[in-house]
Amino acid sequence: MTTVYLNGQFLALEEARIPVMDRGFLFGDGVYEVIPVYDRQLFRLHAHLARLQDSLDGIRLENPHPPAEWETLILRIVESAEWPDQGIYLQVTRGSGPRDHAFPKIVQPTVFILPMQLSPPAAEAVEQGVSAITSRDNRWLRCDLKVTSLLPNVLLRQLSVDANCAETILIRDGQLIEGSASSVFIVQDGMLLAPPKSNLMLPGITYDVVLELAAAAAMPHQVRPISETELRQASEIWLTSSTKEVMAVTELDGQSVGTGQPGPLFRQMHADYQAFKHRIMRRKSAA
Ligand code: PMP
Repeated sequence: MTTVYLNGQFLALEEARIPVMDRGFLFGDGVYEVIPVYDRQLFRLHAHLARLQDSLDGIRLENPHPPAEWETLILRIVESAEWPDQGIYLQVTRGSGPRDHAFPKIVQPTVFILPMQLSPPAAEAVEQGVSAITSRDNRWLRCDLKVTSLLPNVLLRQLSVDANCAETILIRDGQLIEGSASSVFIVQDGMLLAPPKSNLMLPGITYDVVLELAAAAAMPHQVRPISETELRQASEIWLTSSTKEVMAVTELDGQSVGTGQPGPLFRQMHADYQAFKHRIMRRKSAA
């Protein structure tokens, strides 16, 4: 049985109900986070809660809980779930009200926390890399907010599903932005390149981890705008996210990326990321 948290109650997932007038349902008027958990240890909780706060500020919704309360609620869900590795999904919506675009006068937010099983990417995908396609980025101008209104991302992601690919990489005005549900890095002449954070991309927590690991390993890296041409000529392309970790893209729009195999910088980063995860897990035995 999966236990979820909904508005002050811990209950079975099958019993969790929200009113049909919830603005999350009617308008996608809400924000969310997905926090990875390894061996019941929360990965970068404070960074996820800081991004949640930024998303709430961005949609003008008061945070229903201070960080310590979030941590208590999340830990209770983590402990009750059957899997040691989890993705904790949490969502806050602007609650229920008459169907009117304008905010309700009194807002009672809906708070939902759901544990999901987290499986590492398949070994074959890590070894062989994955395929991706590109598409024009037709999302709004606040892609830095992690909002539940994800229809553009859903449609963009489906393009890659239809093409039997793992991700859709988004290009806006000739620049690489990110994937439909991941951050994107490239390698050019032995240098790891990341597009700069802006209102046009989600500030990925894994993106930050990867840049920190690159710095720690003295891997040459730079954060700067990346053109579509540079993306297409890259020797390596990586996708990163809390659930994908770090993956190599070995085929883009049907063309091989570099040698068509995951590259040497990817292999190093993948190993460093696994070591970093294991350090998090060891915190428990050390505690
Ligand atoms: N960009 C988008 C659009 C995403 O949906 C995600 C995954 N939530 C990411 C980037 C990666 O973010 P994170 O590393 O925090 O999972």
